[in-house]
Amino acid sequence: MYSHKENNGVRCELCPHRCLVLPGKSGICRMRRNRDGMLVAEGYGIVSSIALDPIEKKPLFHFYPGSSILSLGSYGCNLRCLFCQNWQISQTQGKARPIVPKDVLNLAKTHQSDGCVGVAFTYNEPLIWYEFILETAPLLKAAGLKTVLVTNGYLSRLPWDELIQHIDALNVDVKAWDDDFYGKMCGARLGPVLDNLAAAKDKCHIELTYLVIPDHNDDDASLEGFARWVYNNLGADTPVHFSRYFPSYRLEIPATPTDVLKRARALAGKWLDFVYLGNVGL
Ligand code: SF4
Repeated sequence: MYSHKENNGVRCELCPHRCLVLPGKSGICRMRRNRDGMLVAEGYGIVSSIALDPIEKKPLFHFYPGSSILSLGSYGCNLRCLFCQNWQISQTQGKARPIVPKDVLNLAKTHQSDGCVGVAFTYNEPLIWYEFILETAPLLKAAGLKTVLVTNGYLSRLPWDELIQHIDALNVDVKAWDDDFYGKMCGARLGPVLDNLAAAKDKCHIELTYLVIPDHNDDDASLEGFARWVYNNLGADTPVHFSRYFPSYRLEIPATPTDVLKRARALAGKWLDFVYLGNVGL
């Protein structure tokens, strides 16, 4: 999913960044490197974390509730969120070990007796693990297991349409209802995320997460604008999780007050049937 450019450079087409990657360098995600004019997915099969999690932890509240799911992550991310709540694996390259798709299948199968319904690609950004997921998901499906992505949704449309056919459920992080915020705080754009969400409707189960950051993305117009868009484009029965921000990575402001989260729930509740609060004991 790349094209050749002059001086052995390559243009990666996988996500909307469309990085021009020069020889020896990697793209913004740090996962894809130009080796002698070929773009190599260096993180293919490289796992940084594996755990059997309750499915509600993804969070997915309306997809096999009460089950567990084998959760896998690699490293790297194609966004640069200043407030990343998982930066130890998304923004660094720590200890990791290799695994092949068949290992993932076998591991998921061994946990079926513990209520495991499949595999969630999560922790760091799974979309930059594109090839690995594309090879693993059909194996899972053939064995009657589910494939879940917990993702920022920032992928080019063609690869997104290809991938989504193999996905059973998504939790997509919508970072804000404001393209300026996406640009300044995440180094990305909101539009491609919304286009991909609309394209995934009716193809798989969708839940959304919105990390509420005080004085950054918590104004009434944004919160209600987001909920209205979900209502109009995905349906009133789409579960939305407003999650509490805690100081992390490069944004050091106080955690989101619970009143702000309650206000978000009330505003979104005008449009949506299922609004939940996360990271908070409410
Ligand atoms: S997947 Fe990585 S290398 Fe490719 S365009 Fe996106 S950030 Fe750049």
